[in-house]
Amino acid sequence: MITQSGAHSAGDPSPAQGGSGAQPESGKGRPSGTSTRYEWTRDLRGYAGKPPQAGWPGGARVAVSFVLNIEEGSERSVLAGDDDNESVYDMISTVVGGPNLHMVCNFTYGARAGYWRIVDLLDRYGVTCTVNGCAQALEMTPWIAEDCVRRGYEIACHGYRWESHERMSEAFERERIAMAVETITRICGRRPLGWHTRSPAGPNTRRLVIEEGGFIYDSDTTEDDLPFLVDLGDREHVVVPYTSDNNDMFLQRVEGFRLGRHLAEYVINSFDQLYEESATVPKMMTVGLHTRIIGRPGRIAALEQIIRHMRSRPDVWFAQRGQIAQHWLNRFGKYK
Ligand SMILES: [Zn+2]
Repeated sequence: MITQSGAHSAGDPSPAQGGSGAQPESGKGRPSGTSTRYEWTRDLRGYAGKPPQAGWPGGARVAVSFVLNIEEGSERSVLAGDDDNESVYDMISTVVGGPNLHMVCNFTYGARAGYWRIVDLLDRYGVTCTVNGCAQALEMTPWIAEDCVRRGYEIACHGYRWESHERMSEAFERERIAMAVETITRICGRRPLGWHTRSPAGPNTRRLVIEEGGFIYDSDTTEDDLPFLVDLGDREHVVVPYTSDNNDMFLQRVEGFRLGRHLAEYVINSFDQLYEESATVPKMMTVGLHTRIIGRPGRIAALEQIIRHMRSRPDVWFAQRGQIAQHWLNRFGKYK
């Protein structure tokens, strides 16, 4: 039994808060269902104001991880046989009982146009990224998967589809994770080492991702600035926090950023603050990107502004999340 202890790796031997061992009672053998008992522990302590010295390669002050989400084609759609259509978009666009072709086009734009605009920009500045790929999306756009591999991007697993796991039964979720790994391995020629559920993940997700056996890290949290380790008894699993604020998704919300430069200003503020703090303790920063959002002509300049700003500072490590996770394990893991 793997428990999520929340053990932090350096200087903070927080007591392991082992799970109860309780398994969800409902949902066994059903395609989906609601778990009623949860194996999940919350750690409000974290590094308790004493974050570890990350010791990034080359003495870098800030490790910056760009995450390019590839979700297009795996979103909910009546066209794909779902009961309803994806509804997260710039404008309120709800269609009930039939396909929402406007929503389909919104996603399709990311694959057809947005992706290429973003990767051209990353290339021009020599910045790598972690592709957060939904397995089904990569399967529907194998030329994009191939292009990601050719560019040397890390392909992490963003679920089988662009779907949150919070209500999946344990059996269904386990199967979903296995399908996602199989599909990405087949399409990309190597298995993903990182996992990231469309938020929210479920209370069992991390345990099942660890149980699958081939992942070294997941990004199913936004609860800290720095990675931390989960002690598995004979090895560790790395949690590399994601970001829901340094993220272009706020451009598609009425109450979010209106213009690309609002996003750029916010992300640059985050970077400047972390860079300042990194004078004493190295930091990590994630920027979340989506092809159908930042890949629009009216928004892409924001990404260029962000990258140029980061590039103007020395000692920034543009890293893939797998590299960050491996570094964390090497530096702080106790089972070597
Ligand atoms: Zn996503």
